[in-house]
Parts: sequence; structure tokens; C-alpha cells
Amino acid sequence: MADKKDYYEVMGVPKNASEDEIKKAYRKLAKKYHPDLHPGDKTAEEKFKELNEAYEVLSDKEKRARYDQFGHAGVDPNFGGGATGGNPFGGDMDFGDIFDTFFGGGSPFGGFGGGRRSNPNAPRRGADAEAALVIEFEEAAKGCRKTISYDKVEECPDCHGSGAKAGTSAKICTVCGGTGQVRVTQNTFMGVVQTTRACDHCGGTGKVIETPCPTCRGTGHVRKKKTVEINVPAGIDDRQILNVPGQGNAGVNGGPAGDLHLLVNVRPHPLFERRGNDIWCDMPITFTQAALGGEVVVPTLDGKVSYQVREGTQPGDVFKLKGKGITKLGGRGCGDQYVRMVLEVPKNLTVKQKELLKKFEDSTSEKNYQKRKGFFDKLKQKFGE
Ligand SMILES: [Zn+2]
Ligand SMILES: [Zn+2]
Repeated sequence: MADKKDYYEVMGVPKNASEDEIKKAYRKLAKKYHPDLHPGDKTAEEKFKELNEAYEVLSDKEKRARYDQFGHAGVDPNFGGGATGGNPFGGDMDFGDIFDTFFGGGSPFGGFGGGRRSNPNAPRRGADAEAALVIEFEEAAKGCRKTISYDKVEECPDCHGSGAKAGTSAKICTVCGGTGQVRVTQNTFMGVVQTTRACDHCGGTGKVIETPCPTCRGTGHVRKKKTVEINVPAGIDDRQILNVPGQGNAGVNGGPAGDLHLLVNVRPHPLFERRGNDIWCDMPITFTQAALGGEVVVPTLDGKVSYQVREGTQPGDVFKLKGKGITKLGGRGCGDQYVRMVLEVPKNLTVKQKELLKKFEDSTSEKNYQKRKGFFDKLKQKFGE
């Protein structure tokens, strides 16, 4: 096969032929050269092949536009190579694939599939993995050690990340010579333009795996359930993210692994409420304890602590237990614990108890109620008599 004939010439139509004209011309010529009508006639067979090739391009708007712009370079895999007449890509390759091979599937004037790609074989850090962790209030306050299971990407144990089946290895890509990039020369209306883009043959890696590792299907990575033991620092709070370095997804090309991000959920405590590094709790005391004072047992993170309630304690009074709060995250010292007095009013009193309380009420003199008097004065001021 000598020089390729112009497709318009092959079809016998002018360059500005309409779609209809091209279709008509094809039908006419296809009938004329159809191999069934010319058994054994090599020339007819050749012409029929030429015709189909021309029609495939000219009947497709996009392909035709490219052909108009670049000539056979855009559509013929033999262009620039030896004129063997065969398809160097082998088999019945679709023209669309050839376009993709030549132009990276995009417009010929832009988007060349990442023309300036960094070295595809450079080590890359793995992505961060994410998991959730639920801990108890006390564990957050004091710190703890936890075992967590989560999914992450790891290097394939069978091929050690190469992606090639054990005993084989990845070959250097013959198309790009292992660089992962190919140069593309194009004739454009601006002149000859040379660009570089990722090699399609090897996907820009510069390597071709002939026998993929069956474990990871050639990716070099596997998803695995991983269990790690981690230290949860004292003072961590609900909704905080704990970063565990190096426990994320495996890196690529020997790059370091990513981190593990743990979203911490702290279970609420039935007695304690956290405010910063301080703890608040309610302490129920009886009427008698409040009036007379006495010892109460207060729960703390370190166990029970006895506390002397002073005489005349009022509901809502707060006392502080210094240093009984939460250990400061990454710092020194602890917050405090605040204990709020809550008066428990007795219910279901017996007749005898009620009598005693009445007697107590009757016995109270003006002196005992000085504080309350202040209250009634305020009431009078505000609302009148
Ligand atoms: Zn593998
Ligand atoms: Zn390549």
C-alpha cells in the first residue's frame, strides 16, 4: 500500500459534501465494490476496504472534523509507521480508541490527560483512614488504652505492592520507555505543536503488569481489617478527633502511610457533667442536713469523698472540690469539681412526722426568719401590699 488516498477522493465527494451526499455515495460505491459481487477480485476487495474506512471517518461528524484538520495523522494508526497495511494495535480496533490513543480522548487543543504529570513512580503518602471510637466519661477524663478495629488499605502481602504475580515482575512499558509519558506531535492551525501526556499503554506508571497478582488484582494494595491498640490521652472531649500517626492507608511506591483519624464519642455520665475541664454534679441533701450541717458522701472521679456540709446550707449553694476535675489535655493539672446542693423535700411523711414539723414551725421565732423577712420586704416593694 502506497500513499493513502484522500477519503473524499475515495468516496468521490467534494470536501464540503453534506452528510446525505456522503451516505448516498457510500451506498452507491458499496454496491459497486461489494466482495460478494466480485469473488476473488483483489482490487474490488481493496477498494471496498478503502471505502469503508473512508465512510467510517466521513460519516462521523467528530472524526470528519479531525480528519479535515489533521489528515490521516488523526485517524490512521499506520501514519508515520511502516506501511504494512496491518493495524499495529492488533485486532479490530475501533477508530474511537485510536483517537483516544492519539489525543487522550479530549479536544486536540486542550486537556491532554494531564500533560505535565509529576513522576508517577515517586513515593506518595497514603490517604488518612477514619474510624470512630466510643469511650466512657471516666476514660476521657483519665485517659485509657483502647483496641480498635477499622478498615484500611495495606500493601498486598503476596506481591509486596508491585501488583505483579509472585515470581513475576512488572515490565518497563515499551510505549513510553518507562517514563510514563509520551510526546505527541500535532499539526494544528498554529503550526506543529509538541505536547507531553500520560502514556495510555501503562496508565502513566511506566510499567506494565503482564500477570497481575491474583490477591490484589494488580493494584498492589488490599483492604484489610486492622486492629491497633492506642493510647487515648486524658482530657479528650466528645467530638474531638484523635490523630494516630502512621496508622492510615498504605503509601504508594514506598511512600509513608497516612494517619488514622479517630472521631471520639464520649458517653454521657449519669452523675457528672463536663464544663471545660471542670466537672459539675448535683448533691442531694436532706432538709435536716441543710439546716444542721453534717457529713455527705460525694462521688468523684477518684471515688467517694466525704464532705462536711455547713449549718444553714441553702439549696443551690455550690462548693468546690479542688483538683477533682478532668486532667487537662496535653497539659498539666486538673480541673475542679463543683458540687451543687439540691434539697430533697421529704414525701409521704407519717402523721407523727407531720406533727413534729408543725411543732417546729410554731416554735420558730422572728429571729430565725430574718433572712426570709428580707425576701418578703422585696416582695412588698415589687408588688405592693
Ligand atoms: Zn498483590
Ligand atoms: Zn507507558
